[in-house]
Amino acid sequence: MKVIQTVADFRLVQREYPRSLGLVPTMGYLHEGHLSLVRRCREDNATAVASIFVNPTQFGPSEDLSTYPRDMEGDLAKLEAEGVDLVFAPDVSEMYQEGFDTTIDVGDIARRLEGEHRPGHFQGVATVVCKLLTIVRPDNVYFGQKDAQQCLVIKRLNADLDLGAEVIVLPTVRDPDGLAMSSRNAYLSDGDHEAALSLYRSLRLAESLYSEGVRDGDAMRREMLALLESEPSATVEYVSIADAVTLVELKSLDRPSLISMAVRIGRVRLIDNVVLGA
Ligand code: AMP
Repeated sequence: MKVIQTVADFRLVQREYPRSLGLVPTMGYLHEGHLSLVRRCREDNATAVASIFVNPTQFGPSEDLSTYPRDMEGDLAKLEAEGVDLVFAPDVSEMYQEGFDTTIDVGDIARRLEGEHRPGHFQGVATVVCKLLTIVRPDNVYFGQKDAQQCLVIKRLNADLDLGAEVIVLPTVRDPDGLAMSSRNAYLSDGDHEAALSLYRSLRLAESLYSEGVRDGDAMRREMLALLESEPSATVEYVSIADAVTLVELKSLDRPSLISMAVRIGRVRLIDNVVLGA
């Protein structure tokens, strides 16, 4: 496995590797969620590439960039064990050279949900993913449903700018107790971990209401909020019941619906989602 830190080196080295080429973009501190993407990338492609880059432009000023968990050595060992061929791990000054001044702004789909609560977040995501797709030129690129809106934003970006990758979205990987795996779970104390299960419980509640025939979006949201708010250390940012394609909020779950939320457990901000009626 080769680890490459500059754009110029990646471009050179990449030519020696056979197609198809698959890419898994990550911010590192890898867990089984990331590795599920890496395994699928390995299976699907002659050349498997992962990137590790904690992208500063997608963090807001009061967010956790400086404390974001990192473990480059451990990550490289995990990627090597999965049979990855190339790792692209640039530093910030390589990706954002002196004078960098371009931002990609995906429209409506990026302004909703996370876009509303984390201003500038998806501009940072879209800009860095556009750069990664341009540098790596993958045939296939892999993302997790855990970040459902991110997947929609990247599909839009990829289509609109003719970036030419096949965007493949894979299911959310959970701990045995249901908590969606996330690098940020490393910040959770044992007590916080228990409190964080309220996200999964509220999604399960939505699923069971749906299977009982509930289609009223407000009624479903109310029940989910009641469950989440009964957890003293949880602060709800939003619970959304939206069209799974456009992310427009729904009064009635009469089409595929993305049930999603952002909740703070203490200082840790967690997101999770499920699609109903797909
Ligand atoms: P991150 O390192 O958080 O930027 O995540 C890199 C990729 O892994 C993104 O496509 C995420 O959606 C995906 N990912 C993160 N957590 C999970 C999970 N629990 N299950 C599946 N994919 C995940």
